[in-house]
Amino acid sequence: NRRVILKRHVTGFPSEDDMEVVAGAARLAVPPGSAAVVLKNLYLSCDPYMRGRMSKQNRRSYVPAFVPGSGWPRCEQSGGIWAPGFQGWRSRLGMTGWEEYTLIPNQESLSKINHPEMPLSYYTGVLGMPGLTAYAGLYDVAKPKKGEYFFVSAASGAVGQIVGQLAKLTGCYVVGSAGSDEKVKLLKTKFGFDEAFNYKKEQDLNAALQRYFPEGIDIYFEHVGGTMLDAVLLNMRMHDRIAVCGMISQYNLEQPQGIQNLLSLIIKRVRMEGFMVSDYLGQHHKFEEEMVRYLKDDKIVYVEDVAEGLEKAPAALIGLFTGRNVGKQLVTVTQE
Ligand code: NDP
Repeated sequence: NRRVILKRHVTGFPSEDDMEVVAGAARLAVPPGSAAVVLKNLYLSCDPYMRGRMSKQNRRSYVPAFVPGSGWPRCEQSGGIWAPGFQGWRSRLGMTGWEEYTLIPNQESLSKINHPEMPLSYYTGVLGMPGLTAYAGLYDVAKPKKGEYFFVSAASGAVGQIVGQLAKLTGCYVVGSAGSDEKVKLLKTKFGFDEAFNYKKEQDLNAALQRYFPEGIDIYFEHVGGTMLDAVLLNMRMHDRIAVCGMISQYNLEQPQGIQNLLSLIIKRVRMEGFMVSDYLGQHHKFEEEMVRYLKDDKIVYVEDVAEGLEKAPAALIGLFTGRNVGKQLVTVTQE
Protein backbone atom coordinates (compact mmCIF):
# COMPACT_ATOMS: atom_id res chain seq x y z
CA ASN A 1 0.00 0.00 0.00
CA ARG A 2 2.05 2.95 -1.24
CA ARG A 3 1.41 6.25 0.48
CA VAL A 4 2.81 9.78 0.75
CA ILE A 5 4.17 10.94 4.08
CA LEU A 6 5.12 14.40 5.27
CA LYS A 7 8.74 14.15 6.41
CA ARG A 8 8.88 17.32 8.48
CA HIS A 9 6.91 20.44 9.27
CA VAL A 10 7.40 23.13 6.68
CA THR A 11 8.44 26.76 7.05
CA GLY A 12 8.17 29.03 4.02
CA PHE A 13 7.73 27.58 0.54
CA PRO A 14 7.23 23.78 0.55
CA SER A 15 9.48 21.51 -1.52
CA GLU A 16 9.04 18.01 -2.87
CA ASP A 17 11.70 16.88 -0.45
CA ASP A 18 9.35 17.65 2.46
CA MET A 19 7.28 14.67 1.34
CA GLU A 20 8.11 11.09 0.42
CA VAL A 21 6.34 8.16 -1.21
CA VAL A 22 6.78 5.03 0.92
CA ALA A 23 5.49 1.48 0.67
CA GLY A 24 3.87 0.80 4.01
CA ALA A 25 2.44 -2.24 5.72
CA ALA A 26 -1.07 -2.82 4.45
CA ARG A 27 -3.14 -2.81 7.69
CA LEU A 28 -6.19 -3.39 5.56
CA ALA A 29 -7.85 -6.34 7.29
CA VAL A 30 -11.54 -5.68 7.90
CA PRO A 31 -12.50 -7.09 11.32
CA PRO A 32 -15.36 -9.60 10.89
CA GLY A 33 -18.77 -8.13 11.65
CA SER A 34 -17.45 -4.53 11.79
CA ALA A 35 -18.73 -1.58 9.78
CA ALA A 36 -15.23 -1.12 8.32
CA VAL A 37 -14.54 -1.23 4.59
CA VAL A 38 -11.53 -0.84 2.35
CA LEU A 39 -11.53 2.04 -0.06
CA LYS A 40 -9.46 1.69 -3.20
CA ASN A 41 -8.40 5.27 -3.90
CA LEU A 42 -8.71 6.29 -7.51
CA TYR A 43 -8.52 10.08 -7.50
CA LEU A 44 -6.96 12.22 -4.84
CA SER A 45 -7.61 15.91 -4.57
CA CYS A 46 -4.79 18.48 -4.20
CA ASP A 47 -5.95 21.57 -2.33
CA PRO A 48 -4.27 24.76 -1.09
CA TYR A 49 -5.54 24.31 2.49
CA MET A 50 -3.11 21.39 2.89
CA ARG A 51 -0.22 23.85 3.09
CA GLY A 52 -1.61 25.16 6.40
CA ARG A 53 -1.57 21.64 7.77
CA MET A 54 2.09 21.20 6.88
CA SER A 55 3.16 24.01 9.25
CA LYS A 56 3.88 23.34 12.90
CA GLN A 57 2.46 26.61 14.09
CA ASN A 58 -0.75 27.02 12.20
CA ARG A 59 -2.62 29.57 14.25
CA ARG A 60 -3.31 31.37 10.99
CA SER A 61 -4.63 28.27 9.22
CA TYR A 62 -8.17 27.00 9.43
CA VAL A 63 -7.33 23.32 9.84
CA PRO A 64 -5.20 21.36 12.36
CA ALA A 65 -1.55 20.55 11.66
CA PHE A 66 -0.31 17.21 10.36
CA VAL A 67 2.03 15.04 12.43
CA PRO A 68 5.13 14.30 10.32
CA GLY A 69 6.15 10.73 9.64
CA SER A 70 2.80 9.11 10.24
CA GLY A 71 1.53 9.33 6.69
CA TRP A 72 -0.62 11.94 5.08
CA PRO A 73 -3.37 11.98 7.69
CA ARG A 74 -6.99 11.64 6.81
CA CYS A 75 -7.52 14.95 5.19
CA GLU A 76 -8.25 14.28 1.67
CA GLN A 77 -11.34 13.98 -0.44
CA SER A 78 -11.00 11.16 -2.85
CA GLY A 79 -13.21 9.54 -5.39
CA GLY A 80 -12.79 5.90 -4.50
CA ILE A 81 -14.32 2.56 -5.06
CA TRP A 82 -15.54 0.61 -2.13
CA ALA A 83 -14.90 -3.07 -2.52
CA PRO A 84 -15.92 -5.68 0.05
CA GLY A 85 -19.45 -6.45 1.07
CA PHE A 86 -21.13 -5.45 -2.17
CA GLN A 87 -22.36 -7.10 -5.29
CA GLY A 88 -19.90 -5.37 -7.56
CA TRP A 89 -18.09 -2.16 -6.69
CA ARG A 90 -19.56 1.18 -5.84
CA SER A 91 -18.21 4.68 -5.95
CA ARG A 92 -17.83 6.57 -2.73
CA LEU A 93 -16.27 9.82 -1.59
CA GLY A 94 -14.30 10.07 1.61
CA MET A 95 -11.43 11.50 3.60
CA THR A 96 -8.38 9.29 3.18
CA GLY A 97 -4.63 9.52 3.34
CA TRP A 98 -2.64 9.97 0.16
CA GLU A 99 -2.42 6.24 -0.35
CA GLU A 100 -3.59 3.47 -2.61
CA TYR A 101 -5.97 1.78 -0.16
CA THR A 102 -7.56 3.05 3.03
CA LEU A 103 -9.23 1.12 5.80
CA ILE A 104 -12.33 3.15 6.65
CA PRO A 105 -13.43 2.22 10.20
CA ASN A 106 -17.07 3.10 9.59
CA GLN A 107 -18.57 3.00 6.13
CA GLU A 108 -21.15 5.59 7.23
CA SER A 109 -18.39 8.20 7.11
CA LEU A 110 -18.18 7.83 3.33
CA SER A 111 -20.46 9.94 1.17
CA LYS A 112 -22.63 8.47 -1.52
CA ILE A 113 -22.05 9.43 -5.11
CA ASN A 114 -25.51 10.03 -6.46
CA HIS A 115 -24.51 10.36 -10.10
CA PRO A 116 -22.17 7.50 -11.02
CA GLU A 117 -22.79 8.37 -14.66
CA MET A 118 -20.60 11.47 -14.18
CA PRO A 119 -16.79 11.11 -14.33
CA LEU A 120 -15.72 9.98 -10.88
CA SER A 121 -12.86 12.48 -10.83
CA TYR A 122 -15.42 15.32 -10.87
CA TYR A 123 -16.20 14.45 -7.25
CA THR A 124 -12.85 15.88 -6.19
CA GLY A 125 -13.70 19.15 -7.94
CA VAL A 126 -16.80 20.54 -9.58
CA LEU A 127 -19.08 18.01 -7.81
CA GLY A 128 -17.04 17.93 -4.60
CA MET A 129 -15.57 20.33 -2.06
CA PRO A 130 -14.36 23.05 -4.48
CA GLY A 131 -17.68 23.07 -6.34
CA LEU A 132 -19.63 23.41 -3.10
CA THR A 133 -17.27 26.19 -2.03
CA ALA A 134 -18.08 28.13 -5.19
CA TYR A 135 -21.80 27.46 -4.85
CA ALA A 136 -22.20 28.30 -1.15
CA GLY A 137 -19.73 31.18 -1.26
CA LEU A 138 -21.56 32.73 -4.16
CA TYR A 139 -25.20 32.27 -3.17
CA ASP A 140 -24.93 32.43 0.63
CA VAL A 141 -22.11 34.93 1.12
CA ALA A 142 -21.71 37.07 -2.00
CA LYS A 143 -25.43 36.98 -2.90
CA PRO A 144 -25.09 38.28 -6.48
CA LYS A 145 -27.76 40.13 -8.38
CA LYS A 146 -28.21 40.39 -12.11
CA GLY A 147 -26.12 43.15 -13.66
CA GLU A 148 -23.59 43.41 -10.82
CA TYR A 149 -19.85 43.73 -11.47
CA PHE A 150 -18.11 40.59 -10.24
CA PHE A 151 -14.37 40.00 -9.91
CA VAL A 152 -12.65 36.71 -8.98
CA SER A 153 -8.90 36.06 -8.55
CA ALA A 154 -7.20 32.67 -9.15
CA ALA A 155 -10.06 32.51 -11.61
CA SER A 156 -9.07 29.49 -13.66
CA GLY A 157 -8.58 27.21 -10.64
CA ALA A 158 -10.86 24.69 -9.00
CA VAL A 159 -13.17 27.16 -7.26
CA GLY A 160 -12.58 30.16 -9.53
CA GLN A 161 -13.70 28.60 -12.82
CA ILE A 162 -16.97 27.43 -11.21
CA VAL A 163 -17.81 30.56 -9.25
CA GLY A 164 -17.20 32.76 -12.31
CA GLN A 165 -19.50 30.66 -14.45
CA LEU A 166 -22.21 30.60 -11.77
CA ALA A 167 -21.96 34.38 -11.49
CA LYS A 168 -22.37 34.61 -15.28
CA LEU A 169 -25.48 32.41 -15.06
CA THR A 170 -26.86 34.89 -12.51
CA GLY A 171 -26.36 37.67 -15.03
CA CYS A 172 -23.29 39.37 -13.56
CA TYR A 173 -20.51 41.04 -15.54
CA VAL A 174 -17.60 38.74 -14.71
CA VAL A 175 -13.87 39.45 -14.84
CA GLY A 176 -11.17 37.05 -13.64
CA SER A 177 -7.46 37.35 -12.99
CA ALA A 178 -5.01 34.52 -13.52
CA GLY A 179 -1.26 34.04 -13.72
CA SER A 180 -0.65 33.13 -17.37
CA ASP A 181 -1.84 34.07 -20.86
CA GLU A 182 -2.97 30.47 -21.37
CA LYS A 183 -5.26 30.75 -18.34
CA VAL A 184 -6.57 34.14 -19.46
CA LYS A 185 -7.49 32.66 -22.83
CA LEU A 186 -9.26 29.77 -21.12
CA LEU A 187 -11.30 32.17 -19.00
CA LYS A 188 -12.49 34.16 -21.99
CA THR A 189 -12.98 31.40 -24.55
CA LYS A 190 -13.93 28.28 -22.58
CA PHE A 191 -15.51 29.62 -19.39
CA GLY A 192 -17.24 32.58 -21.01
CA PHE A 193 -15.97 35.32 -18.68
CA ASP A 194 -16.58 38.83 -20.01
CA GLU A 195 -12.95 39.79 -19.45
CA ALA A 196 -9.79 38.37 -17.92
CA PHE A 197 -6.25 39.56 -17.33
CA ASN A 198 -2.82 38.19 -16.44
CA TYR A 199 -2.02 39.84 -13.11
CA LYS A 200 1.66 38.93 -13.46
CA LYS A 201 1.94 41.22 -16.49
CA GLU A 202 0.34 44.22 -14.78
CA GLN A 203 2.72 46.83 -13.32
CA ASP A 204 -0.12 48.46 -11.40
CA LEU A 205 -3.04 46.28 -10.24
CA ASN A 206 -5.08 49.32 -9.27
CA ALA A 207 -4.83 50.64 -12.84
CA ALA A 208 -5.73 47.21 -14.24
CA LEU A 209 -8.86 47.03 -12.11
CA GLN A 210 -9.84 50.58 -13.09
CA ARG A 211 -9.53 49.51 -16.72
CA TYR A 212 -11.86 46.50 -16.30
CA PHE A 213 -14.20 48.11 -13.77
CA PRO A 214 -14.45 51.82 -14.63
CA GLU A 215 -17.56 52.00 -12.42
CA GLY A 216 -16.07 49.86 -9.62
CA ILE A 217 -16.55 46.31 -8.32
CA ASP A 218 -19.75 45.12 -6.64
CA ILE A 219 -18.50 41.69 -5.57
CA TYR A 220 -14.93 40.50 -5.13
CA PHE A 221 -14.59 36.74 -4.67
CA GLU A 222 -11.26 36.64 -2.89
CA HIS A 223 -8.80 33.79 -3.42
CA VAL A 224 -5.35 35.34 -3.21
CA GLY A 225 -5.06 38.21 -0.69
CA GLY A 226 -1.96 40.44 -0.56
CA THR A 227 -1.43 43.08 -3.22
CA MET A 228 -4.48 41.98 -5.23
CA LEU A 229 -6.81 42.47 -2.28
CA ASP A 230 -5.15 45.81 -1.58
CA ALA A 231 -5.86 47.02 -5.12
CA VAL A 232 -9.42 45.68 -5.00
CA LEU A 233 -10.09 47.64 -1.79
CA LEU A 234 -9.48 50.86 -3.73
CA ASN A 235 -11.88 49.79 -6.48
CA MET A 236 -14.93 48.60 -4.56
CA ARG A 237 -18.21 50.41 -5.01
CA MET A 238 -20.11 51.89 -2.07
CA HIS A 239 -21.95 49.41 0.19
CA ASP A 240 -20.70 46.37 -1.73
CA ARG A 241 -19.07 43.17 -0.62
CA ILE A 242 -16.01 40.94 -0.56
CA ALA A 243 -16.51 37.19 -0.05
CA VAL A 244 -13.25 35.90 1.42
CA CYS A 245 -12.74 32.34 0.27
CA GLY A 246 -8.94 32.13 0.51
CA MET A 247 -5.67 34.08 0.47
CA ILE A 248 -3.19 31.77 -1.21
CA SER A 249 -0.47 34.43 -1.61
CA GLN A 250 -0.12 34.41 2.19
CA TYR A 251 0.07 30.68 2.91
CA ASN A 252 3.85 30.34 2.57
CA LEU A 253 4.67 33.58 4.41
CA GLU A 254 5.60 33.85 8.06
CA GLN A 255 4.01 37.31 8.30
CA PRO A 256 1.03 38.65 6.29
CA GLN A 257 2.06 41.06 3.54
CA GLY A 258 0.66 43.52 1.06
CA ILE A 259 -2.35 45.18 2.70
CA GLN A 260 -2.41 48.94 3.24
CA ASN A 261 -5.89 49.97 2.14
CA LEU A 262 -8.17 48.45 4.79
CA LEU A 263 -9.51 51.93 5.54
CA SER A 264 -11.40 51.62 2.26
CA LEU A 265 -13.76 49.26 4.10
CA ILE A 266 -14.92 52.26 6.12
CA ILE A 267 -14.82 54.85 3.37
CA LYS A 268 -16.80 52.64 0.98
CA ARG A 269 -18.93 50.94 3.70
CA VAL A 270 -17.83 47.61 2.24
CA ARG A 271 -18.75 44.33 3.92
CA MET A 272 -15.95 41.74 3.92
CA GLU A 273 -17.00 38.27 5.03
CA GLY A 274 -14.98 35.09 5.34
CA PHE A 275 -16.56 31.67 4.99
CA MET A 276 -15.68 27.99 5.17
CA VAL A 277 -17.17 25.31 2.99
CA SER A 278 -17.47 22.99 6.00
CA ASP A 279 -20.34 25.15 7.27
CA TYR A 280 -22.36 24.35 4.14
CA LEU A 281 -22.14 20.56 3.93
CA GLY A 282 -25.90 20.37 4.48
CA GLN A 283 -26.35 21.88 1.03
CA HIS A 284 -24.39 19.12 -0.67
CA HIS A 285 -27.34 17.22 -2.08
CA LYS A 286 -29.06 20.32 -3.52
CA PHE A 287 -25.74 21.52 -4.91
CA GLU A 288 -24.90 18.15 -6.49
CA GLU A 289 -28.27 17.94 -8.25
CA GLU A 290 -28.03 21.50 -9.59
CA MET A 291 -24.41 21.16 -10.68
CA VAL A 292 -25.00 17.84 -12.45
CA ARG A 293 -27.86 19.47 -14.36
CA TYR A 294 -25.66 22.42 -15.34
CA LEU A 295 -22.90 20.08 -16.53
CA LYS A 296 -25.28 17.91 -18.51
CA ASP A 297 -26.83 20.98 -20.13
CA ASP A 298 -23.34 22.41 -20.90
CA LYS A 299 -24.15 25.50 -18.85
CA ILE A 300 -21.03 24.86 -16.78
CA VAL A 301 -17.83 23.55 -18.32
CA TYR A 302 -15.04 22.12 -16.24
CA VAL A 303 -11.28 21.81 -16.68
CA GLU A 304 -9.09 19.51 -14.60
CA ASP A 305 -5.33 19.09 -14.43
CA VAL A 306 -4.56 15.43 -13.85
CA ALA A 307 -1.21 14.22 -12.46
CA GLU A 308 -0.72 10.51 -13.12
CA GLY A 309 0.43 8.46 -10.15
CA LEU A 310 0.91 8.91 -6.42
CA GLU A 311 4.58 9.81 -6.86
CA LYS A 312 3.45 12.96 -8.70
CA ALA A 313 1.31 14.13 -5.76
CA PRO A 314 3.99 16.19 -3.93
CA ALA A 315 4.89 18.14 -7.08
CA ALA A 316 1.21 18.62 -7.88
CA LEU A 317 0.57 20.11 -4.44
CA ILE A 318 3.55 22.46 -4.70
CA GLY A 319 2.41 23.47 -8.19
CA LEU A 320 -0.69 25.09 -6.67
CA PHE A 321 1.62 27.71 -5.14
CA THR A 322 3.47 28.46 -8.36
CA GLY A 323 0.33 28.40 -10.51
CA ARG A 324 1.48 25.36 -12.47
CA ASN A 325 -1.99 23.83 -12.43
CA VAL A 326 -4.42 24.74 -15.19
CA GLY A 327 -7.84 23.98 -13.74
CA LYS A 328 -8.58 21.70 -10.81
CA GLN A 329 -5.49 19.77 -9.72
CA LEU A 330 -6.02 16.10 -8.93
CA VAL A 331 -3.94 12.94 -8.89
CA THR A 332 -4.83 9.50 -10.22
CA VAL A 333 -3.74 6.86 -7.74
CA THR A 334 -4.97 3.51 -9.05
CA GLN A 335 -6.90 2.47 -12.14
CA GLU A 336 -10.71 2.26 -12.10
P1 NDP B 1 -6.62 26.68 -7.50
O1 NDP B 1 -7.05 25.52 -8.31
O2 NDP B 1 -7.10 28.05 -7.87
O3 NDP B 1 -5.03 26.67 -7.43
C1 NDP B 1 -4.35 27.68 -6.77
C2 NDP B 1 -4.05 28.86 -7.73
O4 NDP B 1 -3.75 29.99 -6.95
C3 NDP B 1 -2.83 28.63 -8.59
O5 NDP B 1 -3.09 27.89 -9.75
C4 NDP B 1 -2.40 30.06 -8.90
O6 NDP B 1 -3.10 30.49 -10.07
C5 NDP B 1 -2.94 30.86 -7.70
N1 NDP B 1 -1.82 31.35 -6.87
C6 NDP B 1 -0.87 30.59 -6.28
N2 NDP B 1 -0.02 31.38 -5.61
C7 NDP B 1 -0.43 32.66 -5.80
C8 NDP B 1 0.06 33.94 -5.37
N3 NDP B 1 1.13 34.05 -4.58
N4 NDP B 1 -0.62 35.03 -5.76
C9 NDP B 1 -1.70 34.93 -6.55
N5 NDP B 1 -2.21 33.76 -6.99
C10 NDP B 1 -1.58 32.65 -6.61
O7 NDP B 1 -7.03 26.43 -5.96
P2 NDP B 1 -8.52 26.28 -5.38
O8 NDP B 1 -9.51 26.73 -6.36
O9 NDP B 1 -8.63 24.93 -4.79
O10 NDP B 1 -8.49 27.32 -4.17
C11 NDP B 1 -8.58 28.71 -4.43
C12 NDP B 1 -8.63 29.47 -3.11
O11 NDP B 1 -9.80 29.10 -2.38
C13 NDP B 1 -7.45 29.17 -2.18
O12 NDP B 1 -7.09 30.36 -1.53
C14 NDP B 1 -8.03 28.18 -1.19
O13 NDP B 1 -7.35 28.20 0.04
C15 NDP B 1 -9.46 28.69 -1.08
N6 NDP B 1 -10.44 27.71 -0.63
C16 NDP B 1 -11.21 28.03 0.46
C17 NDP B 1 -12.21 27.22 0.89
C18 NDP B 1 -13.06 27.64 2.03
O14 NDP B 1 -13.83 26.83 2.56
N7 NDP B 1 -13.00 28.90 2.44
C19 NDP B 1 -12.45 25.91 0.25
C20 NDP B 1 -11.63 25.68 -0.93
C21 NDP B 1 -10.65 26.56 -1.33
P3 NDP B 1 -2.54 31.72 -10.99
O15 NDP B 1 -1.78 31.09 -12.09
O16 NDP B 1 -3.78 32.39 -11.41
O17 NDP B 1 -1.65 32.54 -10.10
